Amino acid sequence: MITNETIVALSTPPGIGAIGVIRLSGKDAISITNAVFSGKDLLAQDSHTIHFGLIKDGDIIVDEVLVSLFVAPKSYTKENVVEISCHGSNYIIQQIITLLIRHGASAAKPGEFTLRAFLNGGLDLSQAEAVADLISSDSAAAHQVAMNQLRGGFSNELAVLREQLIHFASMIELELDFAEEDVEFANRDQLQDLINKITLVLNKLIRSFELGNVIKEGINTVIAGRPNAGKSTLLNALLNEDRAIVSEIAGTTRDTIEEVLNINGINFRLIDTAGIREATDTIEAIGVEKTMQKISQSALLVYLFDIVNTTPEEILEDITRLHKPGFPFIAVANKIDLSLTERLQSLDLPSDVRFISISAKENQHIEELKELLYDTAVGDQLSDSHTMVTNIRHVEALQRTREALNSVANGLNNPVTSDFLAMDIKQALYYLGEITGQVTTDDLLENIFSKFCIGK
Ligand code: GDP
Repeated sequence: MITNETIVALSTPPGIGAIGVIRLSGKDAISITNAVFSGKDLLAQDSHTIHFGLIKDGDIIVDEVLVSLFVAPKSYTKENVVEISCHGSNYIIQQIITLLIRHGASAAKPGEFTLRAFLNGGLDLSQAEAVADLISSDSAAAHQVAMNQLRGGFSNELAVLREQLIHFASMIELELDFAEEDVEFANRDQLQDLINKITLVLNKLIRSFELGNVIKEGINTVIAGRPNAGKSTLLNALLNEDRAIVSEIAGTTRDTIEEVLNINGINFRLIDTAGIREATDTIEAIGVEKTMQKISQSALLVYLFDIVNTTPEEILEDITRLHKPGFPFIAVANKIDLSLTERLQSLDLPSDVRFISISAKENQHIEELKELLYDTAVGDQLSDSHTMVTNIRHVEALQRTREALNSVANGLNNPVTSDFLAMDIKQALYYLGEITGQVTTDDLLENIFSKFCIGK
């Protein structure tokens, strides 16, 4: 897959900017640049140095530039790398790239720099994918997760698991060589212990995908409640602007409205709904059906009720209808600016329901509600030590690893011969290797790197 070609591409976004950075990677990166550069002899310069000079096409000066040199293997791709910082005009950039191609470089394919970094051992596959995530991260949390993965946190954990498994695989292979003698080099109890331990870690990683994924995509948060509970008003208070239409007539928020609120670096996709009251007319019925559908697709449910106009029985009835055990749920009493506090005290909510009272209109306890939203959906799962899986390809490989290990465990419980055990362990090793890139196919690489932009 890797070629001897020296590749070139614009690494900054296309368009007009103060500067544009053109990158070359490959054996001839420095000599090709040297052929069009006038200032000094780049071939005689040290790695990690920057040089001012001109890019010239024959006698024509194309631009004044700065050239940064990275001599193999001390570069992103582990090859010779040159970065040319030129003025950010489309015309200049095109002229320079064309000139470099004329002198022997070829245009890089999407992700080809990172592909080379991977193939030359600079990054493993999950780190290479993290580069793509890092570039597209649009919130602090998404950035932190991608950065953590890029720095190898995720791969390290897997590498340890894989090594332990390889040890057992080799012990069992050894047994196959001594099949006649009926010996056991691999202690079955220890193998079972290891499988249990690995399965625990796999479960944790697979579960983290749920959170990892919502961090990447945002947490779908539904605000549900009876008409006039104050859902639109709350949405406005949370977003600090008058986006949704607030009205006095019950049932006027007919459709669902979606807005994004960022709390402590996490994107919450707030979905205001048409209310959970039994609909009396058909237009509203569509809204109610949509509400229930939105609720079923959400990751966090906020039930808002009007503390003045809803009886404790109605509140409990709503909660019973909406709250599924184990599903993140917050009950919010609204309009406390109007209510006497005994109304609140007489409420007897289920113990697993998180509760807060606010005034959406008077902006009371809105910040506390935001903290509670964060706490309920994320909690302390985002601490540095927590490894997170954000990639569907990884989670599928982890699931397959778990299935293979399950077969090993079954084989241990209903004793099967060593060759069957060895086969299942090999399967597990294969799937783990797929994540970190010890096992790759051209198709897989093609698929991953084609999603990159050119120049990365
Ligand atoms: P929705 O049908 O649930 O979206 O309710 P709205 O947001 O349209 O609010 C219905 C009415 O309740 C409006 O007149 C709001 O001004 C009023 N309202 C909302 N929140 C509060 C609050 O905290 N205190 C008071 N006094 N009125 C509120």
